[in-house]
Amino acid sequence: MSEQEQGLTTIWGAASHQGRRRSLNEDGYLATGRVFFVADGMGGHEAGEVASAEALSALSGLADVDRVEPALVEAFLEIAQQRIRAIETDSGNAPGTTLTGVLVDEREDVPYWLFVNVGDSRTYMMTNGVLAQVSVDHSEVQELVDAGTITMDEARRHPRRNVITRALGAQDGVRADFRYIPVALHDRVLICSDGLTGELTDEQITTILLEQPDPERAAGILVDAAIQAGGRDNITVIIVDVTGVDHETLGSATAPRPGEEPDEDTRPREEHDARSQGV
Ligand code: MN
Repeated sequence: MSEQEQGLTTIWGAASHQGRRRSLNEDGYLATGRVFFVADGMGGHEAGEVASAEALSALSGLADVDRVEPALVEAFLEIAQQRIRAIETDSGNAPGTTLTGVLVDEREDVPYWLFVNVGDSRTYMMTNGVLAQVSVDHSEVQELVDAGTITMDEARRHPRRNVITRALGAQDGVRADFRYIPVALHDRVLICSDGLTGELTDEQITTILLEQPDPERAAGILVDAAIQAGGRDNITVIIVDVTGVDHETLGSATAPRPGEEPDEDTRPREEHDARSQGV
């Protein structure tokens, strides 16, 4: 699908599959003109499926807003949080969900990606053929990597790799990361659940993204590759391509990009008791 808005033309595609081992698909996604999110629900006994759907339903209201800003997104996340907290379950496991993705915002007529993240689903951006992870995982293994205790490669096989430190629905409230990056022509954004990144390396993902220009087909091929690699979790992928940037906003393409470090993110080091298993 495609859409022109704010002098910006994007096309996107998405795919989601329950994988080979899980009986339910607790992932979900939302893709409209300028709002793109993946949610990976948890909680068992269908609560995870409800949690991800509730989050995406609450955030779908952002598609009707003229200007998106972090404070507004936080207000929508708070609505999602309350809906998830209200889900009743038999299992005793608190329902929750990751939530990651991007919105298109505009600042002084320059289009920006506004990246949003809670949990360990991921957003990546490919620029000039190079894939870079934009989101920072809220996970135990990411904290160990940050501390220099383990490598990224060891994190992929670590027994606690599924333990996340933030989720929508968690009892310690909503804590989201935000990051702005100017939109440039030919940007390709990848949003995915850990069912993709748990099966494929960044190098394998890069190869597929470079080989397949069509976002819908690329999303399908990535999901199929994750299934072939084991499909141990639900797999969800959205790909957004920038195919046009209006001349009046073309200045954004030459604007300097911010550094690689997340800006103004809260990264508390203390332990939280709202950890969740099995995402
Ligand atoms: Mn998952």
